[in-house]
Amino acid sequence: MSQQTVKTTCPYCGVGCGVLAMPKPDGSVQIKGDKDHPANFGRLCSKGSALGDTVGLDHRLLHPYIGDQQVDWDTALNTVSDKLRHIINTYGPDSVAFYVSGQLLTEDYYVANKLMKGFIGSANIDTNSRLCMSSAVAGYKRAFGSDSVPCSYEDLEQADLIVIEGSNAAWCHPVTYQRIAKAKQDRPKMKIIVIDPRQTATCDIADLHLPIKPGADSILFNGLLAYLAKQDTLDGDFIEQHTSGFDDALSAAKSSAGEIEQVATDCELSLEDVRQFFNAFTQTERVITFYSQGVNQSSSGTDKSNSIINCHLATGRIGRVGMGPFSITGQPNAMGGREVGGLSNQLAAHMEIENPAHHDRVSRFWQTDNLATKPGLTAVKLFQDAAAGKVKAIWVMATNPAVSLPDGHQVKQALEQCELVIVSDCEAQTDTSIHADIRLPALAWGEKEGSVTNSERRISLQRSFLPPPQDAKADWWIICEVAKRMGYATHFDYPDVNAIFQEHAQLSGFENNGSRDFDISAYANINKADYARLTPTQWPVTKSQPEGTVRLFENKSFFTPDKKARFIAITPRSPIQAVSTDYPLILNTGRVRDQWHTMTRTARASRLNSHIPEPIVQIHPDDATQYQLEAGALARVSSDLGAILARVAITDSQRQGSIFVPIHWNQQVASSASVGQLIAPEVDPVSGQPEFKHAPVAIAPYQAAWHGFMITHVEISPDSAYWVKIRGNDCWRYELADAAPLDDATDWAKQQLLGIAGDWLYFHDTTTQRHRFALIENDVIQAVLFIGATPDLPTRDWLSQLFQQDSLTDNDRRNLLAGSLGQDQPDTGPIICACFGVGEYTIQDAISCGDAKTVSDLGQQLKAGTNCGSCIPELQKLLG
Ligand code: SF4
Repeated sequence: MSQQTVKTTCPYCGVGCGVLAMPKPDGSVQIKGDKDHPANFGRLCSKGSALGDTVGLDHRLLHPYIGDQQVDWDTALNTVSDKLRHIINTYGPDSVAFYVSGQLLTEDYYVANKLMKGFIGSANIDTNSRLCMSSAVAGYKRAFGSDSVPCSYEDLEQADLIVIEGSNAAWCHPVTYQRIAKAKQDRPKMKIIVIDPRQTATCDIADLHLPIKPGADSILFNGLLAYLAKQDTLDGDFIEQHTSGFDDALSAAKSSAGEIEQVATDCELSLEDVRQFFNAFTQTERVITFYSQGVNQSSSGTDKSNSIINCHLATGRIGRVGMGPFSITGQPNAMGGREVGGLSNQLAAHMEIENPAHHDRVSRFWQTDNLATKPGLTAVKLFQDAAAGKVKAIWVMATNPAVSLPDGHQVKQALEQCELVIVSDCEAQTDTSIHADIRLPALAWGEKEGSVTNSERRISLQRSFLPPPQDAKADWWIICEVAKRMGYATHFDYPDVNAIFQEHAQLSGFENNGSRDFDISAYANINKADYARLTPTQWPVTKSQPEGTVRLFENKSFFTPDKKARFIAITPRSPIQAVSTDYPLILNTGRVRDQWHTMTRTARASRLNSHIPEPIVQIHPDDATQYQLEAGALARVSSDLGAILARVAITDSQRQGSIFVPIHWNQQVASSASVGQLIAPEVDPVSGQPEFKHAPVAIAPYQAAWHGFMITHVEISPDSAYWVKIRGNDCWRYELADAAPLDDATDWAKQQLLGIAGDWLYFHDTTTQRHRFALIENDVIQAVLFIGATPDLPTRDWLSQLFQQDSLTDNDRRNLLAGSLGQDQPDTGPIICACFGVGEYTIQDAISCGDAKTVSDLGQQLKAGTNCGSCIPELQKLLG
């Protein structure tokens, strides 16, 4: 194995950080931030820093399978192509669908889209990016005639006001957040305003936080547009010369939002806060509105986007340094997917299916007479049609729709119903792949090679630094091999990934001449060596701009027929599902700091599991009192579609009447925590993006008869209504509870640990009704299990550490027997700094002693916050 350092790109969020990976002879990989990469300049967040902990081969899919039968690649590929061909011949091309992912590389995405739209002849290919930023895409296209993100990260550093709307950037885009925080530190006059129903970690750098009523964003921005007009701070020349539709947009804004007092009332904000926001926006020239899923994941997400863009067009604040409407993408390659037509309503290279000139151009370029003629099914509809039997075959690539789509029960039903389900993945088992007829092993990060594009249009390479394990193959190879077997050999005969990138670049420049925003024709003839050396560059990249393009629309020319940007008249709409007597709370969903998507990669790193180890439900203290919930106990959250169990976290950062549940946990790691199954499949009518931020739910205490936890060296399958599996260092930890009492705790414990050899230690405390068990073999701890009537069981840290020891000491044995269980060890509390394992109580102690007054003091004393910096907002909060 090579020991050289490889420059690659982080596979998680849309920030797109450059990573230096140094594979070691012992199989481990050292990770550092790449100081030369313009997205992060050497910074990495907690997730990126822990990438080296995630490259193991356990739980990997390493061979093709048909059912449970391992097969060779030829058999798998012939079966896939024969079955797809049979279904297409029997039911037509629209009976098959691909569901792909922002985790794919651009070249994978390109050939998947080419196969489905260009040769199968259906546009039924959609992507999980539909769930993330399709409303932002639709908003840009309505306004600019193109899916163009105008700004760059450096604009954020040059802005004088950043309005962060619907984004907990501190946790979801941490490195960009750190760049903003540093810019504000260097230029204290820079103002940050956060608009979010929750008071998130992002608010720590905010001069003003507007805890807006969920769903009211368009009212606020319509109100702002009306206010800008009233204050006479419009850019009349820009509006006149470079835009259309202003009068209608202003009239809609005035009639829907009214005066500032009405806006404050409708948004449930204080008048003073709204006035401060409006005045700051009015009086500051360099303004960026930075928005994300809180805007997009709504049944009116496209309108919300355009209400923001309207305010930038009205003030001419676009295409200039430090200004613009900046949608940040969630996924590592959501932008790459947008480039190649990964969404079912697009053609490749930012062309449109229903535009005859575009259709003709792509047909000629791909040399096909079978190019899809109408948009295909969007994600939610695709699975609904599968459940209804209209879609007969689905090929899911690098994503987990059984967890991530709304109405998870229906998605699972769709997968069961489908005649043919193919899953390409690097994971052996996911909530989706358990329904697959055929599983195809894909390469993972570190093994695969290709390009990705981040939120600021910057194309970087993910480079391989690990050998392909066993039968695993690149996604582009798998797709092309199927295409060849379906009869399209000449169109999918690529010798390597560079050849696909070349074709992608050639199409972007084909008959373009400045008519389309996406143009990377400078790479049209890039050779293998230059591709391997590709440096991170922002598109467009053309012969006249070979260094790329920092900012779009500097020439004030847009991609509409009249070259003018379009105002869109917005009439705000409420979220589709309203609260009721039965479901009185609004469920909001999102990410936590140290996990990514459905945890298939991040949950491999034990240090990332220590920040928030279990599914939580955050609730306001008054709501907790009303619903008789206790901090640390379990709650049942339900909607008319299903129910989940989660640990109660009481916090006044949550709005009264709303609760928050993370999206990550699923059936592979928790018995009942997939929040998608509570959410109705309501979507935005323009973008098709689901409303993940506003589902009516009920909450009640889960009346557990007992609570417990178990730590083992090997994985087991616990038998309890509530269980969560948490990977630790050399051990697995299970948190347990059940409403049904245990008839015989000893019998139950022996059932759980059946097959694990060792001598039993058992202690039953009749006073506290606690049971504790330990299995020890040859002085090595094999398992511990604790059961009690209440959740306040001993700290897990000391017991977990025993699993890293070669043998137990006499003192350890005495502690286990006596049940003192590390009581002589300080309880460090929930982990705040994942990099150095520093807990909340340790930090609080340092602060209360008076030794630590600043984040820097905490760094010096405890090292907390000195590596990736992702925990700095939480350190700041503890400092008060
Ligand atoms: Fe990866 Fe973190 Fe950078 Fe996102 S911010 S790309 S998760 S290191």
